[in-house]
Amino acid sequence: MTFSELGLRAELLRAVEAQGYTIPTPIQRQAIPAVLNGGDLLASAQTGTGKTAGFTLPMLQRLAEGPRPGKRQIRALILTPTRELAAQVGESVADYGRHLTLKSHVIFGGVGQQPQVDAIRPGLDVLVATPGRLLDLHQQKHVDLSHVEILVLDEADRMLDMGFIHDIKKILRVLPEKRQNLLFSATFSNEIQALAGKLLDNPAMIEVARRNTTAETVDQSIYRVDREKKRELLAHLITRHSWNQVLVFTRTKHGANRLAEQLSKQDIPAMAIHGNKSQSARTKALAAFKTGDLQVLVATDIAARGLDINELPHVVNFELPNVAEDYVHRIGRTGRAGSDGQAVSLVCVDEHGLLKGIERLIKRDLVKHVEPGFEPDPNAKPEPIENGRGGRGGRSGGQGQRGNGGNSTSHRGAASRGSEGNRSGDDNRAPRRRRSRGQGARQA
Ligand code: AMP
Repeated sequence: MTFSELGLRAELLRAVEAQGYTIPTPIQRQAIPAVLNGGDLLASAQTGTGKTAGFTLPMLQRLAEGPRPGKRQIRALILTPTRELAAQVGESVADYGRHLTLKSHVIFGGVGQQPQVDAIRPGLDVLVATPGRLLDLHQQKHVDLSHVEILVLDEADRMLDMGFIHDIKKILRVLPEKRQNLLFSATFSNEIQALAGKLLDNPAMIEVARRNTTAETVDQSIYRVDREKKRELLAHLITRHSWNQVLVFTRTKHGANRLAEQLSKQDIPAMAIHGNKSQSARTKALAAFKTGDLQVLVATDIAARGLDINELPHVVNFELPNVAEDYVHRIGRTGRAGSDGQAVSLVCVDEHGLLKGIERLIKRDLVKHVEPGFEPDPNAKPEPIENGRGGRGGRSGGQGQRGNGGNSTSHRGAASRGSEGNRSGDDNRAPRRRRSRGQGARQA
């Protein structure tokens, strides 16, 4: 099957070709005709499946073909949980829509709002936004949502995890009742089903294989190691195996900073990316990592969510996540689009409970290794796990969860996610840094 057989317009086919795609992915094969039909859609798909083009291409086609209001109005609204995902989706909208005359723009928290207001004022067809900043601008009457024809909720499960449900409900109340709704989610929790039940009208349902749980292309392994030896082991593995593009996950922002600093001191170029970093620092780190100039990117879960890094060869869990599902999201960064990937987890005695929770979730036992020279002390005693709630860059506060208890792996929601819940996360409404990016509206 080709893209043209899916009924896409010549302008979109040209843009797709320019991206180098020849064959639609499974989600695209199913989502494109469904969205072109005009009905609602409920799709289970993770980042890496090609879902963005799956909703963007038919959305642009419908906008290009539908009647236009006299003045340019926001006719499609895409909501995403994080700034990075918003920026990436915005880029896709611009890339795929480059031969159309539609205009798009991206707005998110954490940066100055005036450039966003200035970009919106002349009129847009497509707005990509994180919920908090969108509501702020709407409340200040800078955004008119009364002409929205298509609503996309991207990574809806993560939006709920990050506590955006009330914001989403407020946004839904100001949208026209008659519209097309597309809901994308990696998981189908009860909350997602409840949201889908309220939002969607007789939706087409699409489910593509959950690649991370089935991903045969990801080689997953565990290195047992003492807590204090993890950094040394990581540096050793990177050097010994000549890994030149490694995404490393830490549980806390502080841990990410510290690890990046220490690796850099050992001549392994590394940068940290998390919710306390300015947007420009994050963008810079991500760009350097993507081009291969930066060997190691150290990230927290929320910062890494939705990062579009293709066919990443190595993902390392420097610490296991508190929430077992995050393991699945993390390793989903590697072995993408059929290429081989390797996911390595460094596990100390504190994390045995978390590891069991992950193995239960993915329904398999992971292969355990011990690297010669890094044998764990058989008498080591587990200690409580640092959760990084001590505020900006601080060490953990008093609420640390005992991560080695079986329960902590089954907790959901921002409260169990370590240091980056909504307040300090990616849609922070109070601009932390008054720094604006060049954000003029783009040709969609
Ligand atoms: P997404 O799941 O939307 O984040 O997309 C994951 C990656 O797959 C992105 O880098 C896309 O550029 C890429 N991609 C999307 N569709 C295709 C396709 N049909 N063929 C090859 N790569 C694709």
